[in-house]
Amino acid sequence: MPEAQAQAQAPSHTPGLPPLYTPQPQSPSRQGFDFHTSDSDSASAAHDGTGTGTAHSPSRTGTAASQRRTSNPPPSIISPAFTPPATPGFTTPSQPRRPPRSIPVDTSRTSDSPRPELLEELPVVECEVRARIPTTTGHEMWLHVYRNNVDTKEHLAIVFGSQIRSRSLDAERPGETELDRMTRGAYVGRLYPGRMSSRVEAIKRAEGVPSKRTPGQPAPTDPAESPSPSPDQPLASPSPSPSSAASSENGDASPLPLPLPLVRIHSECYTGETVWSARCDCGEQLDESARLMADPVLSPSGGAIVYLRQEGRGIGLGEKLKAYNLQDLGNDTYEANVLLRHPADARSYGLATAMLMDLGLGGDRGIRLLTNNPDKVRAVEGPRREVVVRERVAMVPLAWKTGGKQGIKSEEVEKYLSTKIEKFKHMLDQK
Ligand SMILES: [Zn+2]
Repeated sequence: MPEAQAQAQAPSHTPGLPPLYTPQPQSPSRQGFDFHTSDSDSASAAHDGTGTGTAHSPSRTGTAASQRRTSNPPPSIISPAFTPPATPGFTTPSQPRRPPRSIPVDTSRTSDSPRPELLEELPVVECEVRARIPTTTGHEMWLHVYRNNVDTKEHLAIVFGSQIRSRSLDAERPGETELDRMTRGAYVGRLYPGRMSSRVEAIKRAEGVPSKRTPGQPAPTDPAESPSPSPDQPLASPSPSPSSAASSENGDASPLPLPLPLVRIHSECYTGETVWSARCDCGEQLDESARLMADPVLSPSGGAIVYLRQEGRGIGLGEKLKAYNLQDLGNDTYEANVLLRHPADARSYGLATAMLMDLGLGGDRGIRLLTNNPDKVRAVEGPRREVVVRERVAMVPLAWKTGGKQGIKSEEVEKYLSTKIEKFKHMLDQK
């Protein structure tokens, strides 16, 4: 489709705005994560920070998003479309979407790189509240707000699908009423006007009323149907999914285990996620992560984005802006941090490990981690391998995969990604 036409189909909230990199209002039409494109999450591992980020999201690249919807993406220059070719119209896929390519990981084997320094004790975390968030893509996610005993920030978990639930949220609290429980999000099923019990679905099940959903087919619109009975239970046992268990009872062929839940650890990047910065690719990575997790075909076991409030690789927004100025003076991301006497990467992931455990994602079953950063794999696993990363799913920058037709385009983001590769050892897949 001609580009002019494609632009004509751009979201209506952008009339008159030049396409790329023009700040657009974060209106509902921000396509949040762009489900229309696909693959990559490129360099997000080191995302943020001082780096030059990339703008990730569709809103940030309104035109790009509309182009993606209206034309097939050109072949990737990097990895031959390891993620599904963009399917126009996410809601009506004409063909099955291929899952993102995973790379098996086993950090229990000795490796060249030393395990990163991790705090001996994981922080104590508690999910304070959760709510259902319908998104502009038509999918829903469950936003979880966490408190912890090491800082005062509200770290977040963005959960897709119905299988992943917070243990600390579901736990009974002394003296609370059913309304209290529903108010803080500790309910199963969905809320509706007049609902009196947080446990309606559970009661129905106890009475033998069959669940309306097919096991193994998470319905984005109806998450959280089953409260997780106890911590560790779902994940500790690599037991087959309910659906596969059922099929084996019928003597069918060996059950197909569901893919492991997808997980992304994402550090806050105000510039890249909110104010349209093209210095880094954080927004693009966030959008891509959400796109993969919200797709029941690509991620049938659901997924969780642990969103840590550690701006600028942990140095804060003010220092991050200084680093940008140093970059404009000719330094790269890494050098800028060193000049400011910050560690190249001040982030820590103990909170993420603790939150994943609370979400039932700890234990032997393991997870698939969306990252390009091998060090992140080990950091997320925790000091005693409380979380097990079974597979790593790389995220290739959209611009690379599409030969620059999509994704963030800026001189800064190219430098940022180069620095990531050279100095942070990110393993962007260039095969
Ligand atoms: Zn960023």
